[in-house]
Amino acid sequence: MIGNIKKTTEILNKYGLSVKKSFGQNFLIDENILRKIVNVSKITKEDGVIEIGPGIGALTEHLLKNAKKVLAYEIDTRMIEVLETELKDYDNLKIINEDVLKIDQVYDENYFKECKRVVIVSNLPYYITTPIISKLLLNEPKIEEMYLMVQKEVGLRLSGKPKTKDYNALSVFMAYLSECRVEFDVSRNCFLPAPNVNSVVISIKRIEREITVNNESHFLKFIQNIFIQRRKTFVNNLSKAYKIDKEKVMDILRRNGYKESLRSEELSLEEIYKLYKEIFTSPYN
Ligand code: SAM
Repeated sequence: MIGNIKKTTEILNKYGLSVKKSFGQNFLIDENILRKIVNVSKITKEDGVIEIGPGIGALTEHLLKNAKKVLAYEIDTRMIEVLETELKDYDNLKIINEDVLKIDQVYDENYFKECKRVVIVSNLPYYITTPIISKLLLNEPKIEEMYLMVQKEVGLRLSGKPKTKDYNALSVFMAYLSECRVEFDVSRNCFLPAPNVNSVVISIKRIEREITVNNESHFLKFIQNIFIQRRKTFVNNLSKAYKIDKEKVMDILRRNGYKESLRSEELSLEEIYKLYKEIFTSPYN
């Protein structure tokens, strides 16, 4: 198996590869963590898996052994030869040498036609964490679950709960579309080279939206705007972004039992939505 320090160093030397920091390359060298990722994703021989950034194939090999089919997107052309050679014994792998952010549809209907469910499993390059998660949640309804290694700080924000220091616009966005939780911690020492941050593996499960909005992008922008400055009150953030009558918004807050000093991090998704509706459909605006 590829995922230990000896084998990783051997492969990097064999192919004359240096690590590309600009591609977020931190290779997993801990077999226990690789097994834990596969276990938490509960993939079976009936499932399809999309891996983002297979690198030299450490996680890929575990996925190939446990899933029916694996589709891997890798931006670094140098890795393609490694993957094709080192994983040549597996007939359930398709590799695409592309930037996953530039792919219109990551899910491949035809390739996965015999799979019961399709999930994403990836040790993500950290620089694409937020754009790829939003892209997949907003545009790819066929992908219902994701199991992702992310920077710990980001994982805590993605899964943040109201009234905690990690809760922000990203947490509300995630709560709107999914159930997101931290599954387990991963030390920086499990990677080669070791990044200067710790990591967590998170799970993201798409949910039936309880909230339906007419203009989704307007609502998502509203979520961003009310968190734009953490130290400011809800009303102050709001009045910076929109032409609103502060007094009228204060009135809406009072009627809903909030103080004027209300901060956005005190509000759940449902509470934010209720205020959003009142503010933008109230006769004052
Ligand atoms: N899966 C391997 C592992 O766990 O050891 C490597 C993970 S490494 C953190 C991230 C991988 O994503 C690298 O192989 C990198 O080249 C690749 N990558 C970076 N940006 C990418 C992008 N935009 N699209 C596809 N792959 C990308």
